[in-house]
Amino acid sequence: MSAPPRVLTVAGSDSGGGAGIQADLKTMLALGVHGMSVITAVTAQNSLGVQGAWELPAQAVRAQFRSVVDDIGVQAVKTGMLASAELVETVAELLAGTDAPVVVDPVGVSKHGDPLLAPAALDSVRTKLLPVATVATPNLDEVAQLTGVRVDSERRMRTAAEAVLAYGPRWVVIKGGHLAGEAVDLLTDGAEEHWLRAARHDNRHTHGTGCTLASAIAARLAKGRSVPEAVTDAKEYVTGAIAGGFALGAGLGPVDHRW
Ligand code: PLP
Repeated sequence: MSAPPRVLTVAGSDSGGGAGIQADLKTMLALGVHGMSVITAVTAQNSLGVQGAWELPAQAVRAQFRSVVDDIGVQAVKTGMLASAELVETVAELLAGTDAPVVVDPVGVSKHGDPLLAPAALDSVRTKLLPVATVATPNLDEVAQLTGVRVDSERRMRTAAEAVLAYGPRWVVIKGGHLAGEAVDLLTDGAEEHWLRAARHDNRHTHGTGCTLASAIAARLAKGRSVPEAVTDAKEYVTGAIAGGFALGAGLGPVDHRW
């Protein structure tokens, strides 16, 4: 049997299995690619929030990356929680040396408000990580943190996209899911514009949506799709996963990857 495309996630572990590395690998399995992982941090986490987080030494991140890339090879990479300026810079440097497309989810804070990135690392995300991204996928909070642009309407999403593109990613997806009404995202490279709309599912169990979208984009890119095709397909996948989100524990449950 021929090997499936290989996709690497560089992200944090969520012990509850809803977000982070665990969501990434589930998404990759569901979308028919071989998922691999470079773990940057370990979180003690459940449906109520993050109870603890420990980042790995940069040396451990570098060694995992080299092990995977030098032997197995990658057709696409996704980054998630990177925890600190040192890890952001380490990962950016490693990615600058690969040809594979890179999806950067510039994870800042969890839905419960737990910090997943040190504030001192924001500048490294802007100047080191975003420039190596093929696609960056910030939500509105992350856009505000990275660029200072506050989005309160669809029209402002275009301003936000321009502000993110100024840091150098080829494409940006501005995730407008926090606005009222339809769940609308804007994908643009500064020339083309794609407005992606989906009906809003009235479901509070949405833990892991951002990780799932970014991993789904990477999985599609690894299969040779163009960025607009990959993001359109990924939006459809995450919308279905949100529709199936289910209660676990006493708090916010995960999206359902099994469809
Ligand atoms: N935990 C880890 C390790 C993550 O990488 C992320 C998001 O990227 C989260 C938690 C946050 O998940 P959510 O905001 O969907 O609850």
